[in-house]
Amino acid sequence: MINSFLQLLYPKCCFACDEVLIRSENWICTRCRFELPSPGLFLEQPNWISHKLDGLIDYDRVHAYYVFSEGGKVQHLLHQIKYKRQERLGEYLGSCVGRSFSTKEYDLLIPMPLHPSRLKERGYNQAACVAKGISRASGIPMSETHLLRTKQVASLIGLNRAERYKTLEEVFEVLRPGELDGLRILLIDDTLTTGATFLAAGAKIKAASTGKLSFLALAALK
Ligand SMILES: [Zn+2]
Repeated sequence: MINSFLQLLYPKCCFACDEVLIRSENWICTRCRFELPSPGLFLEQPNWISHKLDGLIDYDRVHAYYVFSEGGKVQHLLHQIKYKRQERLGEYLGSCVGRSFSTKEYDLLIPMPLHPSRLKERGYNQAACVAKGISRASGIPMSETHLLRTKQVASLIGLNRAERYKTLEEVFEVLRPGELDGLRILLIDDTLTTGATFLAAGAKIKAASTGKLSFLALAALK
């Protein structure tokens, strides 16, 4: 009763299109659920997503759940997770992704880390929220202690991939690399734009351990 009253006063809206949700809907309306652009998690490679990484790093697979473009609904959704404190939305979307994976595919999920000062400022790591959801739905364990971001860098907006890579080259550090040896690792980020962040963090993991590396982004920029 109280919930219905509150729903009248403060209706819950779809995080992608802002339309009011009906009672049976959560986070995203049914229409967006079917219409948000999704390339398919298991696209045959090479494809337009793998082209961002191919030839630049030794890796196994790259997955993206959504495709985003500037100003589109998926970008709006990502904005809520990253800047509007909607960490539970990130976990929810992670759990949607995680239903397609099992422990047969990967041994360990590693979310892209934030620098501790950025983490303090934001209060949570959006990539870790997504990883948490994937872990819960798939049963694959996750670790936030093997990959750290030890340097804070200025905004990467406006830089091309080479400039981003140069900026990010020395910001990641791998701890206890021996524990990653031989594992099938899935490195997770909220967005894949140029691929520079995946390349920089992935290079550190590959240099430190014999783990087999794959990447997953909640959304990739087309
Ligand atoms: Zn919607």
